[in-house]
Amino acid sequence: MRATRAEYEELIETLRAHDHRYYVECKPIISDYAYDGLVKRLEEIEKAHPDWVVPSSPTQRVDEGETRGFKQAEHLAPMLSLQNTYSLNEIADFIDRVKKLTQLKNPTFSLELKIDGVAIAIRYKNGFMVQAITRGDGKKGDDVTLNVKTIHSLPTLLTETDIPELLEVRGEVYLSKQDFLLMNEERQEQGLEPWANPRNACAGSLKLLDAKEVYKRRLNLITYQVSYGHEIDLQSAVHPYLKKHHLPVLDTLFLKKAHNLNEIEDYIHFVAKKRHELPFDIDGIVIKFDDTKYYESMGMTGKSPRWAVAYKFAPEQAVTKIKGITIQVGRTGVLTPVAELEPVFLAGSTISRASLHNEEEVERKDIRVDDTVFIEKAGEIIPQVVKVDLDKRPKDSVKWHMPTRCPFCETKVVKYENEVAVRCPNQCECPAQGMRRLHFFVAKGAMDVEHLGDKVVEKLFESKMVQRPSDFYKLSKDQLLELPGFKEKSAQNLYDSIQNSKKRSLDRFILAIGIPHVGAQSARLIAQRLGSLKNFISACKEDLLRIDGVGEKTADSIVAFLQNPLNMEEIMLLIQAGLEPVVEKVATDSSHPFYGKTFCLTGTLTKYTRQEAGELIQKNGGVVVNTVTKKTDYLLVGDEAGSKLEKAKAAKVTVVDEEWFERHL
Ligand code: NAD
Repeated sequence: MRATRAEYEELIETLRAHDHRYYVECKPIISDYAYDGLVKRLEEIEKAHPDWVVPSSPTQRVDEGETRGFKQAEHLAPMLSLQNTYSLNEIADFIDRVKKLTQLKNPTFSLELKIDGVAIAIRYKNGFMVQAITRGDGKKGDDVTLNVKTIHSLPTLLTETDIPELLEVRGEVYLSKQDFLLMNEERQEQGLEPWANPRNACAGSLKLLDAKEVYKRRLNLITYQVSYGHEIDLQSAVHPYLKKHHLPVLDTLFLKKAHNLNEIEDYIHFVAKKRHELPFDIDGIVIKFDDTKYYESMGMTGKSPRWAVAYKFAPEQAVTKIKGITIQVGRTGVLTPVAELEPVFLAGSTISRASLHNEEEVERKDIRVDDTVFIEKAGEIIPQVVKVDLDKRPKDSVKWHMPTRCPFCETKVVKYENEVAVRCPNQCECPAQGMRRLHFFVAKGAMDVEHLGDKVVEKLFESKMVQRPSDFYKLSKDQLLELPGFKEKSAQNLYDSIQNSKKRSLDRFILAIGIPHVGAQSARLIAQRLGSLKNFISACKEDLLRIDGVGEKTADSIVAFLQNPLNMEEIMLLIQAGLEPVVEKVATDSSHPFYGKTFCLTGTLTKYTRQEAGELIQKNGGVVVNTVTKKTDYLLVGDEAGSKLEKAKAAKVTVVDEEWFERHL
């Protein structure tokens, strides 16, 4: 298709605007597939008119923008992008190009998964992790060292003997599908816009200025490249090298070699089948020419090296019809529009509902009842309506609006400043909120009551047997037998499960009572640090703020919750019903890595005092000593380690850092 200069310039502007939304705001408004389609068109125009190409074109440079609040840091070597394609023919062209450039008849390729996360460069100096930098514009990026240090699987100290003085590895920071799901559920309850996919949720988290907040997001990492400090002849040998240094790498099941297009196709089919089982999102595979000594001479095109190409999976889509738009009211009163769909099979499961998030989203996509729509799964798990097929829209269709009253209790809804959500303010009497709170109370991760699924909770609620969590514990077996479908055995099982849940730990209890802004991670930290329900109930804001990982918002929310007499009454009723939430004691087990080991500690740790770390070691069967001797198993070092470090090195004692300590704890 012929192009005009005006189209070319407009396309660049459009792509820049999408780049800004994607990289800086982490809120894209079009899918990656649609974005890649626009880039393809830009490439076609540039091929036909090479004299038009401007250096700032999105095909010529990577540009993630800068994030305010972070220092910028230079890369040791340019951090590039990857040429990408959705077509097997273009992979065949890539193979031919590699043959031509290397003069090899049978080049070998190393195949890997393309993790859909955020690219990161991580530097180690004498084994210590000293810096982590995002890709930025390829030459310099945001220094996100503190945030990357919160990643549990990342060693902050490399302990093998052959570590180069300066080593840089590259990889992808990602958020698991499960954590993405939980994070979006929590955001929805807080009245915030949900993230579009795990990649955007991860990028948004990595750019938070408060590392304590990042810690709660549970980011993860996979490394796949050594970019400085150690030369490796083959790409396929990079992963074993990284693994040897305890850096997280892809499972070997997904690391394959190929010699031709057929073998690459086999791998693509293999990955396409397995991708739904992976705990993280991938957007394709990466095909890398294996022999790294050719890389420099092969050079690059625009912003991508010539030795690799990414094959991306086109999004799996299904077409269906919207039968209706219903409203779901969450436990904190947020109204969420939900598309009721004609059931359709998509990426491994049948979909009959899709959250539409909020009114703005419905308005932006102009979604109406009786529309024919395209659906996809965000992050491979959450069904979402991506687009309406306007050609199929019925003539008499009308725009959808959020109800002005809660459909469950008729209370006038409210919209608070800075929130996209609309809420039902009738916290105490709205039946939908009461029911959602009950669901949440008994859910896995909270009180985890077996045999108490959504349907049973609804029956108990509708029959008025249970209106608040403490009512569960007043139920007799005879009352349960009154429920439709319940027989002797099922009633007994449910009764036993409810009774057993009285022994749940304090962190689960704190989560289950449903305090806004208190997720599983904060509940765990609070329970560990406060130690008892009594201390929790009487905690003031200052006590809470002293807990590493608890910020202003969470502390304020807890204080407000505990000051509400209705909430306190409910906590008292739960205690009277026999709940005794206590902090879980770690049982000393002889298979624990600390069991029987001698530790010496030096320097300042970030998350524990030395005394706290010592207690944890002892609790797990270890011994803490004051001086390093040949008999010491580990020296645990914090910042500004003292002379013990030199002694430990001389005595060949294994030196470990706080990250190692936490990982093994
Ligand atoms: P890319 O994501 O297509 O590919 C390059 C990146 O893949 C590398 O930088 C690296 O971080 C990553 N990667 C993952 N696994 C890897 C592995 N095993 N080996 C090597 N690298 C691996 O390119 P990009 O330049 O990072 O981003 C451009 C893409 O981002 C576009 O193609 C588009 O899909 C998306 N995007 C979308 C929008 C939008 O509005 N939807 C806007 C801008 C960009």
